Amino acid sequence: MAAAARCSSMGRAGATGHAQQLGSGLRVLWRRVAGHQSSAGCMGSSNRGGAGGTPGRRALLATCAASPGYTAGVGAVEGSGPRVCILGGGFGGLYTAVKLESLMWPRGTKPQVTLIDQSERFVFKPLLYELVSGAASEEEVAPHFAQLLGPYPVFFVQGRVHSVQPEHATQDGGSTGGGVVTLADGASVPYDWLVVSLGAETSTFGLPGVKECALPFSTYEDAQRVAARLQLLEELVGYPEVVVVGGGYAGVELAAVVAERLRGRARIKLVTSTPDILPGSPQGNREAAHRVLADQGVSILTGAQVTEMRKARAGSSGGLSSGGSNGASSSSGVGIGGAGTAAGPDLAKRLVYVKDRAGQQEVLEADMVLWSAGQAPATKAAAQPPPGALRLPFSTNSRGAMQTDATLRVLHHSRVFALGDVAVSSGGQEQPPLPATAQVAFQQADYVAWNLWASINNKPLLGFSYQHLGDMMSLGTTGGAVTLPISVPPQLSAAVAAAGPLAGLLKAAGVKLSGSYGGGSDGVTLEGPLGAAVRRAAYLYRQPTLEQQLRVAGDWAQSASKQLRQVLADAARK
Ligand SMILES: Cc1cc2nc3c(=O)[nH]c(=O)nc-3n(C[C@H](O)[C@H](O)[C@H](O)COP(=O)(O)OP(=O)(O)OC[C@H]3O[C@@H](n4cnc5c(N)ncnc54)[C@H](O)[C@@H]3O)c2cc1C
Repeated sequence: MAAAARCSSMGRAGATGHAQQLGSGLRVLWRRVAGHQSSAGCMGSSNRGGAGGTPGRRALLATCAASPGYTAGVGAVEGSGPRVCILGGGFGGLYTAVKLESLMWPRGTKPQVTLIDQSERFVFKPLLYELVSGAASEEEVAPHFAQLLGPYPVFFVQGRVHSVQPEHATQDGGSTGGGVVTLADGASVPYDWLVVSLGAETSTFGLPGVKECALPFSTYEDAQRVAARLQLLEELVGYPEVVVVGGGYAGVELAAVVAERLRGRARIKLVTSTPDILPGSPQGNREAAHRVLADQGVSILTGAQVTEMRKARAGSSGGLSSGGSNGASSSSGVGIGGAGTAAGPDLAKRLVYVKDRAGQQEVLEADMVLWSAGQAPATKAAAQPPPGALRLPFSTNSRGAMQTDATLRVLHHSRVFALGDVAVSSGGQEQPPLPATAQVAFQQADYVAWNLWASINNKPLLGFSYQHLGDMMSLGTTGGAVTLPISVPPQLSAAVAAAGPLAGLLKAAGVKLSGSYGGGSDGVTLEGPLGAAVRRAAYLYRQPTLEQQLRVAGDWAQSASKQLRQVLADAARK
């Protein structure tokens, strides 16, 4: 990948005319990825013609267009609409940006949208496992913003958000006006309306040793690190031990994919503090997960609380060898866990201290520990914030989540919205908080986009209403489980179960009618290859843009035809 162009200054075409230049430190990075043609043009440029744009913005466009390796397609910038700045380009932020572009705006009100993310890639997190298994391409799981936003007039700024200073402060500590976002490199981005969707980060709950010993699994980089460690484990001689901490969806899905890759060549333990895996999820999914994990030889330790992790001292414990022996009696204590050094990977064994329900302590040895036991909103204040840590002036709840009203507007800040994992809606209703899922975030994105439209056009705002569409999980490359919240009358499921051939047919297809659904109503569970296919199809439908859907569908068609050719060639050889 080559950095092809770097646009270093940017202004705004604002109605107020006090266009504030982004500092020279602000990086709008344009990277051209090998094999991905940046015909999109300068992201943030509009192809819709017109002759607007302040000198600052024109300078940006000119810089981009003049940069080597950059195919400009640059039209002029439309407009003088309000500036909407979106912090975080995940399921909340990116989908809001795309949705804003699809709305019909009365003349002169169409906002100029700036999307800021620390990463150059959008990450479709539910498909991160496929990066580890190799079942999906990087471009499907983590496409570049440059590619995704190419056809849209959205400015993308790659930078780490450091703080926000709202203007027009109110007595209750809120604000009624726009403000300025400051990035970690000191650059500033002014806004009239702000959307905060910075997501969640891995939390280790301050447990000693977890950061040093375990690999998290939440970002594109995490997935790459896990894949690299697995490759190392595959190459080493011996019988590696892997501990996955966390019995929620992420832990179960991760254990399944790791077990598939190391099939029959590793001992894998899934540790959860709860009485069973997948608490609160549909019974059908839980049963499917138990079946697959048992089949793959994953042992499940329930009611086990991790209290600490340590690295074993060299020579204190057996481990794997990099070749030449079975490694069982090696005194070098090799194993695999956290990050390596320039001298090579860190091969020390990890010791995972767990306490069972009776308070008995057990120490699990592992060559790799995966941590998927906790996430906290990105706005959660750290006890000792590192320099440059995020500082936002918005009120948060005890978990550190930004509080919004039912319309997803941040409490006391009439021009700020928040959504996704970073936010919690008080809504004025006695409802439990919504789960931190992509499903919630992208549904909220529609409402935030609509409510921005309504706010800018002085129309009433809509209260967010969540519709649960089902629970999906991957269970290895060709396995999965999907429970759809469809009520099945008990008489019907009993009748189907009694009708022998039909029940057999449905079972063979991976369809289960009974699973009791979370709070009690029934659902329909699709499992095995059928569940996996439905899940992938649903994620194809949920890709952030139509262009990305078509790209992913094209990739699928290509790989399916390759597989078909292979099957035919094999058959011909036989
Ligand atoms: C492994 C895994 C599997 C999952 N599987 C599912 C699933 O199957 N179904 C489901 O519904 N949900 C799933 N989720 C949860 C889902 O991914 C999240 O709920 C969803 O991504 C939340 O969207 P968001 O926009 O709030 O945050 P994100 O999608 O995480 O986006 C936040 C963005 O903010 C950026 N950012 C953060 N801090 C800064 C900063 N200071 N400056 C600049 N940028 C910043 C990040 O780079 C990121 O792009 C999964 C999560 C994980 C980790």
